[in-house]
Amino acid sequence: MASINSNFLKLKAGYLFPEIARRVKAFSDANPDKAARIIRCGIGDVTEPLPAAVRNAMHEAIDEMGVRESFKGYGPEQGYEFLRQAIVDHEFAGLGISADEVFISDGSKCDTGNILDIFGKGNVIAITDPVYPVYVDTNVMAGNTGDADEKGAYAGLVYLPCNAENGFVADLPQERVDLVYLCFPNNPTGAVATRAQLEAWVNYAKENDTVIFFDAAYQAFVQDPTVPKSIFEIEGAKDVAIEFRSFSKNGGFTGVRCAYVVIPKTVSGKAEDGTRVPLHQLWSRRHSTKFNGASYPVQKGAAAIFSEQGQAEVKALVEHYMGNAKLLVAAAKSAGLAVFGGENAPYVWVGCPAGMTSWDMFDKMLGEAQVVITPGSGFGAAGEGWFRISAFNSRANVEEVCRRLHVVLG
Ligand SMILES: *Cc1c(COP(=O)(O)O)cnc(C)c1O
Repeated sequence: MASINSNFLKLKAGYLFPEIARRVKAFSDANPDKAARIIRCGIGDVTEPLPAAVRNAMHEAIDEMGVRESFKGYGPEQGYEFLRQAIVDHEFAGLGISADEVFISDGSKCDTGNILDIFGKGNVIAITDPVYPVYVDTNVMAGNTGDADEKGAYAGLVYLPCNAENGFVADLPQERVDLVYLCFPNNPTGAVATRAQLEAWVNYAKENDTVIFFDAAYQAFVQDPTVPKSIFEIEGAKDVAIEFRSFSKNGGFTGVRCAYVVIPKTVSGKAEDGTRVPLHQLWSRRHSTKFNGASYPVQKGAAAIFSEQGQAEVKALVEHYMGNAKLLVAAAKSAGLAVFGGENAPYVWVGCPAGMTSWDMFDKMLGEAQVVITPGSGFGAAGEGWFRISAFNSRANVEEVCRRLHVVLG
């Protein structure tokens, strides 16, 4: 009989979003008169339509595909040059990143999971808590952890607690680690790291020979001009960091699928015999073996984001969502709750009223206000006592959520 990867058996059953769906369904079944009132601020998915610049570029690309002379079969696995170059010119100008250090993919979720393919066993891995669950689960699948305890924490991972005291920006680890996942602006807390904080992380990485995985999926939402959008804005980061970016949240590409990872040729890891090997070389090999490129129309659509029209449309989308975030922050504050995030990220991270757990608050918001939020404990033990409100919604829905917050919390 074929044996299986038993690491999968260590995974907690996909708990958070299925449990949210279960409770919403149970409420709707029991209260059919209120089901239509439900407003979902739970899942981190965009709501506004795809920019016209993107749609037009994709239409044109489809038409090219319909003509023998301009038809395209397999493209380069690493992505078309037109997109890689546009990314470097617009997102990393002056930072010394070259187009061949950019690898196009069909999503950051895949990239952040797949990257573990090129790392060996026995690495000490640090993860912030609360966290985007993909980082944890992919390490479990790869066999980089032991079993989970009753709180869901896996043996073998170094958890870096984020809390109100540190402003939800993890302190540097006490011990040395080989890999660390950082996500700024953060999902779920909406926290951003200052330049000084990122400099401290890069210095730590240099001193400890650590590789930083920097997830910048929400960089477009940064409003404060002093907050770095890329880890490569920090001196020396090109020797220790790789960065994940996605068109999902800025361009509304969650259903279109296009992302990229930037791997400077100067970042390396150690082979068993002690020699240093560039991660770029390994990822290039991995990507061209296991991936056949994002589709041509999608890459054309992504490149259109960097056109003048595309930039204006993305700006309007970001302004829309950040306007929502501002309203949500103000409403939660005036209800007397502790509030983080929402200033440089489309997520507002709110403290539950005294004595309530994250799931208590979920049930209260659903039962009394018909608003679906995300319980913080679903993102890790340190998220207990907090909840996330997503600003990905229509303005009308957000205004209604703010009104209902007041009715429920006074
Ligand atoms: C949404 C999100 C991504 C992007 O995922 P895609 O697969 O590119 O849609 C990456 N990281 C985090 C933390 C996210 O929330």
